[in-house]
Amino acid sequence: MARAVTVPGFVNAHSHAFQRALRGRAAGGDFWAWRDGMLAEAERHTPTSVRDLYAMTYREMRDAGFTAVGEFHYLGVDTAFAAAEAAADADIAFVCLHVAYARGGLDRMRQTSVEAYLADVERLRAAGLAVGVAPHSVRACPRDWLEAIGDFAASEGLVLHVHADEQPREVEECLAEHGMRPIELLAECGCLGPRTTVVHATHANGAELDLLRDSGSTICACPTTEADLGDGFIPAVRIRHRAIPLCVGSDSNVRIDPLEELRELEGIARRQEGRRGVFSTEELWEIGGAHGARALGLDAWDDIAIDAGHRSLAGVAPEHLRSALVAGCSADVVVAASADVPGT
Ligand SMILES: [Zn+2]
Repeated sequence: MARAVTVPGFVNAHSHAFQRALRGRAAGGDFWAWRDGMLAEAERHTPTSVRDLYAMTYREMRDAGFTAVGEFHYLGVDTAFAAAEAAADADIAFVCLHVAYARGGLDRMRQTSVEAYLADVERLRAAGLAVGVAPHSVRACPRDWLEAIGDFAASEGLVLHVHADEQPREVEECLAEHGMRPIELLAECGCLGPRTTVVHATHANGAELDLLRDSGSTICACPTTEADLGDGFIPAVRIRHRAIPLCVGSDSNVRIDPLEELRELEGIARRQEGRRGVFSTEELWEIGGAHGARALGLDAWDDIAIDAGHRSLAGVAPEHLRSALVAGCSADVVVAASADVPGT
């Protein structure tokens, strides 16, 4: 019998649930080779397959301690409804970060105009989904799309999420096209602000980090995915020095473990700083919970139960529980939500 202790749940601020299917079969190659495999996987999905795969993935998230998820969704509108149903099935709070995609990628990802994209967003909102806007990246969205989406988010009070500075090539292409770096372009286009979350920022320079700080934007770190894809190290220490809020996401879902995301983030900071305890335990729990909820526009998210009798926690005093969870446990210490379902 589990000796359950209640703690705040975790918020997964950045997920592409369909990429869970790629684990174990997308090894080798660089980010761009991985992306080819990812696009092939994206191509095959229907509302039915999304409903099934996402329900499985969201149940894994829920059992690992994530009680809310921001799904950065670029498989089209019909599959967005299927993803929302899957989340309801898994009892995880769901925010559809509906993606604007003007160029590149697959047909199914692209809208014909930014007006068509915003009409899709309105359709999702009208159906009662919690929605945020999400220009995919400066690769996928030209300047006029970024400006229109930034305007819309501001006037409607919606959260805005965008990938930026994940790969050096993306920075180089942005410099070649616009004469400035990705986060500089986002600032110029009105896409930064307290409701904005920039995903990755791995290769952000000091000037870009200053823009995020000055605008009150959040950064979403996805350490296990950034490691898997060879993206590089998030500049964790420089972000913390600027007091830019951080949250975490499981992104490609190669791993689904909020404790591991937080431990990786702190591990990166320790290696960069050459000392221990860069983020306090309290800060790490805020990154895992409250900051993610704010990034998704959520006022509340569910608690979880931890099995204090788990072997990973043997000998740990109650006052050290939260530190020990981040320092030395995997998500298997979380009492699975499915264990609460009568009859299972
Ligand atoms: Zn992503």
